[in-house]
Amino acid sequence: MLGSNLLVRDGGIPGVVIRLSAKGFGDVELVSETRVKAGTICPDKNLAAMTLDHGIGGFAFYYGIPGTIGGALRMNAGANGGETRERVVEVHAVDRQGNTHVLSNADMGYSYRHSSAPKDIIFTHAVFEGYPEDKAKIRADMDAVRQHHETVQPIHEKTGGSTFKNPEGHSAWKLIDEAGCRGMMIGGAQMSPMHCNFMINTGQASGYELEYLGETVRQRVFETSGISLEWEIKRIGTFMPGYEVKEFLGELTA
Ligand SMILES: Cc1cc2nc3c(=O)[nH]c(=O)nc-3n(C[C@H](O)[C@H](O)[C@H](O)COP(=O)(O)OP(=O)(O)OC[C@H]3O[C@@H](n4cnc5c(N)ncnc54)[C@H](O)[C@@H]3O)c2cc1C
Repeated sequence: MLGSNLLVRDGGIPGVVIRLSAKGFGDVELVSETRVKAGTICPDKNLAAMTLDHGIGGFAFYYGIPGTIGGALRMNAGANGGETRERVVEVHAVDRQGNTHVLSNADMGYSYRHSSAPKDIIFTHAVFEGYPEDKAKIRADMDAVRQHHETVQPIHEKTGGSTFKNPEGHSAWKLIDEAGCRGMMIGGAQMSPMHCNFMINTGQASGYELEYLGETVRQRVFETSGISLEWEIKRIGTFMPGYEVKEFLGELTA
């Protein structure tokens, strides 16, 4: 976990945060001609680079995602036409009692930016399957992915990537734009003028401001389109007393 898809509330987390060490969980290694095994703290980009070295196709999309394999497995991370679920063979995990588990691709219960794997297990490593591909083609795909992300996303800002999932048949950014929320600010939190489904912290935004902005956008989008956006960013932790954000402001005023 790198926190690239997380919003931690201002009251913090009433518990222990486990971050795996790169020493035991950061490697990516070749298992066969088209299979690789990666530890879950391995950055997605390292997996993409390694598969390029070995002429294994199917992983170029990871080159544009600034998270780790653990986050990718949990979020079914994807970009540029590729998704984690297309590549996963099996996922190894450990539960709170220290029991180990091996989950098949089906066990991961993947759907768009979601896995229904038990929430209380920690993924330790996973095996992925690609296919033989010309290195020049893989490199070109990776360059295209990088260029796409640099051109359309505010990747140099403090952001958690896409704030909301694309509703079936719609683009979240279009709905946000049509609701007049591009560039909208609450305190130091802003819907990026460059990509209005990206929420950015312009400096000192609190978790409260970021989440309040997100819920305000959901309300405006609901009012203009009737569509209820679903958060893609995971919000965790507790609110600061007096700074609670009510879920979906639209429902309060309906
Ligand atoms: C600039 C930018 C661009 C982005 N572009 C994309 C994109 O194109 N496509 C896309 O899909 N995402 C994108 N994201 C979002 C994010 O990078 C991905 O969701 C990524 O997969 C999250 O990985 P992470 O390691 O940072 O996970 P975190 O944000 O740390 O965690 C995400 C979730 O995964 C869980 N998790 C993490 N590791 C483990 C583990 N080992 N075991 C069990 N659960 C675990 C966490 O508990 C949490 O629930 C972008 C983000 C940014 C900032």
